[in-house]
Amino acid sequence: MQYYSTNGQAPRASLEKAVIRGLAEDRGLYMPERIPVLPQEFYDNIQTMTFHEIAVTVAQALFGEDIPDEELRRIVGETLSFDCPVVPVTRSIAALELFHGPTLAFKDVGARFMARLLRHFTRSSADPRTIHVLVATSGDTGSAVANGFLGVEGVRVHVLYPKGKVSPIQECQFTTLGRNITALEVDGNFDDCQALVKSAFMDAELTQRLRLTSANSINVARLLPQSFYYFHGYAQMKRLGLAGQLVVCVPSGNFGNICAALFAKRMGLPVKRFVAANNANEVFFDYLQTGRYEPRPGIPTLANAMDVGDPSNAARIFELYGHDWEALKSDISGAVCSDGQIRQTLRFCREQYGYQLDPHGACGFHAIYHNLDPGESVLLCETAHPAKFKDTVEAATGTQIEIPARLAAFMQGTKQSVPMGRTYSEFKEYLSGLQ
Ligand SMILES: *Cc1c(COP(=O)(O)O)cnc(C)c1O
Repeated sequence: MQYYSTNGQAPRASLEKAVIRGLAEDRGLYMPERIPVLPQEFYDNIQTMTFHEIAVTVAQALFGEDIPDEELRRIVGETLSFDCPVVPVTRSIAALELFHGPTLAFKDVGARFMARLLRHFTRSSADPRTIHVLVATSGDTGSAVANGFLGVEGVRVHVLYPKGKVSPIQECQFTTLGRNITALEVDGNFDDCQALVKSAFMDAELTQRLRLTSANSINVARLLPQSFYYFHGYAQMKRLGLAGQLVVCVPSGNFGNICAALFAKRMGLPVKRFVAANNANEVFFDYLQTGRYEPRPGIPTLANAMDVGDPSNAARIFELYGHDWEALKSDISGAVCSDGQIRQTLRFCREQYGYQLDPHGACGFHAIYHNLDPGESVLLCETAHPAKFKDTVEAATGTQIEIPARLAAFMQGTKQSVPMGRTYSEFKEYLSGLQ
């Protein structure tokens, strides 16, 4: 399969090139040139298949031309060492819990898959050099990427995070690992971290000497595997008898996760419509109302993984709908949720239905609770474990949240990080020591 750039000015790329480059030469995002449709038989029997079997079928359709079958099965097997259960909440809403991976983030699947795909490409490549993954994080991405790449040969990960600005649990998730993971504690904010990473990618001298790549959701290897979730979610809804008129609701920030869901529909998954739930960052919501896409700076909210003012995957979504606003609107609707509404929803859902949402899932619940047509049922993505946002959830509900053992285990390790200033010269000096 070849990949083309959404900006249309770059040469087509192989999967290997698209994954190692991340972004195309013209700064566009890579898109698969074809979206394979899975046979009807697959959808007829999907409710009898395991998550692993479903993911193998989807992965074969997307990556089967480029990765030998045995290797692809191994990659999927190593990626999905956990389940994503669907938990009924109300009569028509069920939560697809995406947070049962090692760092309790839905980003675990994409990060683990991408790490193993890179391992495959470094093993089969004539270029013996190490691949260096640079990732700037305000929390969740760094932990999922660091854990996903831990111990993967041929790859080293450098996580840049703002000193004192990530939660203690998140910090432990990428500073206690060691091995091929290095954490850089930057004396600045998240934007400073991101600027350092961008400067490195634009440094021609450096990129010639080192093989550098990024691991955010612009990378097709992180984005596409997230579609596994939606096939598996559909299979479970079918078992519950709730798949007839299925609405999929995705709390969205950079719109990678919902983009993967839209790919699933293109592959034939019977979804009636989508709801993109936002917090107070309403740039996509406004686009749906007006047809004008106007990026703006992100504003901080209680659902901070969605504090994005210029969603990087918007370009892919426009491309999927041929830049036709009407067509896009007939498939996707939007909603926004204030911090006050997040708090209210955290409490309401717990009291009425006994289900504890996290602040991101709360944006989703709020978006659909009063907006369903008769006969519709909802697969609501619950993107984070409520314990990750313990203080917010406890303050809103007045109830204590228990920290799962897996999360608590990270707190046991010894924190190790390299102190770093915010100037590029200091970061460059660090990178100069690598090979
Ligand atoms: C990353 C993240 C999101 C946003 O996902 P996108 O793919 O960027 O839209 C939502 N919730 C949580 C908890 C996240 O970590």
